[in-house]
Amino acid sequence: MRTAAAYLESLSDGRVTYFDGQRVDDLLGEPAFAQAARVVAAGYDRFYSPEPGARNPLLTAPTSAAGLRERALMFPEIDTALAVTLGSLMTLLTVATRSALPQAYQDRMLAFFEQATVQDARVAECITDAKGSRALRPAKQPDPDAYLRVVGRPPGGVIIRGAKLHITAASLCHELLVMPTKSMSPGEEDYSIACAVPLNAPGVSVINTTYFPRAPDSRHFPVSGVRSIPDGMVIFDDVFVPTDRVFLDGETADAAVFAHSLGLWERAGGMAVMAHDADELVGLAQLIAEANGLERVSHIREKIDEMALYATLLRAGFEASVGHAVVSEDGYYFPSELYTNATKYYGAAHYAVMVRHLHDIAGGGVLTAPTIGDLENPQTSAYVRKYLQATDAVTGEQRMRIFHAIRDLTADAYGGWHAVTNLQSGGGLYAQRLVLRKHYDMARAKELGSRAAGLQS
Ligand SMILES: Cc1cc2nc3c(=O)[nH]c(=O)nc-3n(C[C@H](O)[C@H](O)[C@H](O)COP(=O)(O)OP(=O)(O)OC[C@H]3O[C@@H](n4cnc5c(N)ncnc54)[C@H](O)[C@@H]3O)c2cc1C
Repeated sequence: MRTAAAYLESLSDGRVTYFDGQRVDDLLGEPAFAQAARVVAAGYDRFYSPEPGARNPLLTAPTSAAGLRERALMFPEIDTALAVTLGSLMTLLTVATRSALPQAYQDRMLAFFEQATVQDARVAECITDAKGSRALRPAKQPDPDAYLRVVGRPPGGVIIRGAKLHITAASLCHELLVMPTKSMSPGEEDYSIACAVPLNAPGVSVINTTYFPRAPDSRHFPVSGVRSIPDGMVIFDDVFVPTDRVFLDGETADAAVFAHSLGLWERAGGMAVMAHDADELVGLAQLIAEANGLERVSHIREKIDEMALYATLLRAGFEASVGHAVVSEDGYYFPSELYTNATKYYGAAHYAVMVRHLHDIAGGGVLTAPTIGDLENPQTSAYVRKYLQATDAVTGEQRMRIFHAIRDLTADAYGGWHAVTNLQSGGGLYAQRLVLRKHYDMARAKELGSRAAGLQS
């Protein structure tokens, strides 16, 4: 297994990464990447074992309902690069063990799974294409590269061209798991490609964005200063992929199985994180209500109760999802599609209302609270402490820090990232609705409806 130090060293492998118009050769020398890299590195040390053949215990398939629950509960606790690796590798395992793809593909997927876990690699999930006009099929796009495709078939592999957008932690991973973003039709064989590509392969480059605070003094960004991680547009400019890393090539009928499997793991992770984040929002609402001296006022209590209901229903959905796990023929446990998608949808659809309650309860200090620098400046410190204090129980500094956390988490650049990510990661609301409808027992519902309407004799 890798240590934190070995991970940080592994980032200097010639990968081509851009940020804000510049190529970044030394990721650790760029503050916007360095903090995220340190968080990923800490994740390595957390699970490190010097035993020969040791593996990260999270990167194995759950073989019991309790194991699946334990794994899913870890999502909010682990770094984002490890979370996407878990998503990528579990997707490969799901496709290899639950689909009817030819044996050769299944063997290659399992071999890559083995190699990635032995090497303790981090693997980004590359599924979302540029997609061009959303109204047109991949093969009908004016620019044929709008969806990633095979553009050459030399001996021993394929050459791919295209881009995968919004890829979380791409620049901080070692491998890219490339998959078709949706179902494909006959005539779209070249777009039906799934494979694994090292980040430093010739022709691969990443254009990054991040909401890491870029202020000279970022102490008043307590959340984004710790949790931000770059997302990347990953370019594949005629990249050669050897055959043993190709997991699908031309089988249009099987293209969607990757998106379905990744969607399940992405949404299962998203659901676990949302349940955790919902409790965090409730906590901030209660803290600021107490700091404002309003925690006993009825309309404030009602809003906090509503937030607590939201958090509790997300937790209930999470428990239902792992409690109704599906077991594969090989004895692996997978979260329930129905409960996972319903919960992820519910969490994403109602998040904005919960944030509205929090802002409503908190007041304008969310946006205008002075900074830590103002607190330290002898000319302003006493005023900040005096005028930000609202009750005897909470100091002005504490109230200011609660405002900072609320702003950073919900009302600033990272807050915006968080709100959009809740909606879009793992596919937008529509994607979850589609899966829900597929797994919901409509026949039973109709039967009940018919009985109520007296339509049955
Ligand atoms: C911060 C962040 C991190 C992400 N991380 C990853 C990642 O690691 N890996 C990855 O692969 N992806 C990632 N994504 C991408 C995410 O899965 C997509 O954003 C999501 O699937 C929506 O795709 P899109 O952004 O291209 O939007 P669009 O596809 O343009 O969707 C916009 C809206 O249009 C609707 N729509 C689109 N096409 C049609 C159509 N034909 N008919 C009807 N309605 C349509 C959608 O339902 C949606 O409501 C990430 C996204 C974000 C925001």
